[in-house]
Amino acid sequence: ELTLILALAILGGVEENLSIHLASSMGDPQQSIPMRILVLYDDHSRDSVIFKRYLTWLLNTMWRIPVDTINTHDVKLSEEIFFEENSKPRYAIVFLGNIIDGEYRLSESEWNLIKNRLNGKVPLVTCLYAVQIEEAAELFGCEAPKHKDVRTAHVKPDPITEAVPRTLSVGRGAVISELKDGDALIWDSQVEPRSGALLVRKGINVWFGFRDFLGGTPSNGPLTMVFCSLLKLIPQGFVRLKIPYTFIALRIDDIPYTTESWFHGWEYFSADEWLEFFKTLKRHGAKCDLLIVPYNVSKKTGLFVPYNVTHGDVLEAIREGIEMGVVEVGCHGATHVNPNLKYFMEAETRDPWELTNTIRFEFGYDPHTGKRIPKEAQELHLNLSTETLEDWFGFRPKLFTPPWHVWDNVTESILENLGYKFISADFRLYQAGVRPPSIMGERSLVSSLFEVPMTHGWDGLDPNPEVISAVLKPHIEAGIPIVFLSHGRNWSYPGWSISFAISENEVRLKVLDDLYSPRYAKITEIGRFLMNWSAISFEARMGGDEISMNITSPFNFKVRVEAGRAGYEISEATYNGHSLEVEKDGFTVELAKGTGLLTIKLQKAEAVEGAEGRPSNLYLYGSAIAIAAAVLTVIVILERGRRK
Ligand SMILES: [Zn+2]
Repeated sequence: ELTLILALAILGGVEENLSIHLASSMGDPQQSIPMRILVLYDDHSRDSVIFKRYLTWLLNTMWRIPVDTINTHDVKLSEEIFFEENSKPRYAIVFLGNIIDGEYRLSESEWNLIKNRLNGKVPLVTCLYAVQIEEAAELFGCEAPKHKDVRTAHVKPDPITEAVPRTLSVGRGAVISELKDGDALIWDSQVEPRSGALLVRKGINVWFGFRDFLGGTPSNGPLTMVFCSLLKLIPQGFVRLKIPYTFIALRIDDIPYTTESWFHGWEYFSADEWLEFFKTLKRHGAKCDLLIVPYNVSKKTGLFVPYNVTHGDVLEAIREGIEMGVVEVGCHGATHVNPNLKYFMEAETRDPWELTNTIRFEFGYDPHTGKRIPKEAQELHLNLSTETLEDWFGFRPKLFTPPWHVWDNVTESILENLGYKFISADFRLYQAGVRPPSIMGERSLVSSLFEVPMTHGWDGLDPNPEVISAVLKPHIEAGIPIVFLSHGRNWSYPGWSISFAISENEVRLKVLDDLYSPRYAKITEIGRFLMNWSAISFEARMGGDEISMNITSPFNFKVRVEAGRAGYEISEATYNGHSLEVEKDGFTVELAKGTGLLTIKLQKAEAVEGAEGRPSNLYLYGSAIAIAAAVLTVIVILERGRRK
């Protein structure tokens, strides 16, 4: 191994050799450290607040890792924030999220604290424009960040890119940077790594240029995959909990029909076809949520026509689906049409797209006036819809999905009063217009509704296993529930059309079964699971190749535990003194009610051939190796100094 390091050091120099980088700059693996993460943010920057929300969601909501957040606009950073009395770090990772817009927000003394006391002991992570700041460029090894639309990116094998495919389709705006003395681990395929870096590591510090958290469905992009492995940079190791099932829900809006389906001529299943569809789902153990719009609006009279008059047989089929245990119904408004009916009734056009514009939106925002939909109108529609669904199906719905994903905090307060518990919209961490954030697995920021937003489109999803596994990878790696959204009909836009056929649905289900053996669930089942999930907490300390962890659960509950450290794997684990069956990177454990003690032992991983036949630097660890590497680094640095 020493010969190998020598060879690498000579051939590749320091930038090529990550083991030397990590070993020479990492904190003391023997010193114990808590699994607790600090996120710095500044409430003067919208992006910074969203960054904080993303990290809190992924690390704490999804992985149950304790997270502290500090608004550096209010709090001056001091030694006590970062260190316990005996100079032991309080945090396993510190995120500098307060400077990601490139604003200089830390004083010289605060920078000195970060540079001289924290740097090298604890991984520091930042992103986007932070490296515009000289001090940050120094810490993170890159500079000159700039916006770029990135289509695809190349990925270099590294402990923190393990969950990321070697070629990545990005397909959205990102920030690229120029390397100083960091190592580009992901870069824009159209640009060379030196000037098109998207992920840069310098020692145990990391900068990234992905903007996933600022867009819709932040869970879908490469960033979540990077974060899956990022924790391996903690010199003492990491531990997190992960949902032990691949939850998949299929949400189908606009059932049994909608006013615009009528003027577009979109086709739905007949009652018999719906029954056939439910049987297909049942064969695969799958379920669906049908989000009901109970009334059609007559353009001529403005009267609401209930669908039990025109689609009584379909409603009967849906009731059968409920009895089969396959269907859950929820509320998708009363009409799907703006409560001010004159927009629709007075429209002279027959063009379906112009007509569609006249009926937008039922809740939240009226684009015709640029004002909110009045509370009284929203109340009228939600009361009517809720009563009608109760009348048709015999119980009050608990789930609401807003038509067009448009609603506001008034909508939520009405829903709350009507006994709704869950809302499913589009997954966003920020407010968009009048629409509040909609965060997977969290309680709404404006009401007591619990959120299970959609994560992927279902209609038109290519049933090729490679495509599906690429699309779902971030969710599978991170254990995030998947909620597909369908519209349950054949429909078209100018330029494209989508069909909803039993055979196509079945092919997709088969691919999902083969790939994941998922736990198909209704949306409220996922919501209830996530409510329980949010009641589980842990405190852990890592150090000296051992992780000890107190896990508290208010009930008996199965969880997956993932743990590790670059170059190490799990060798054994015990829970309340009982030995557990472990894999290299994790294991499942049945938590008992109360607080239990979990102990995990890590051991050096056996050498494995790396990607493309190159030795994987990940496995070049261990104290003897680390010392040798540090000595070599010094030699290389001295050598370089001499050359200068
Ligand atoms: Zn809809």
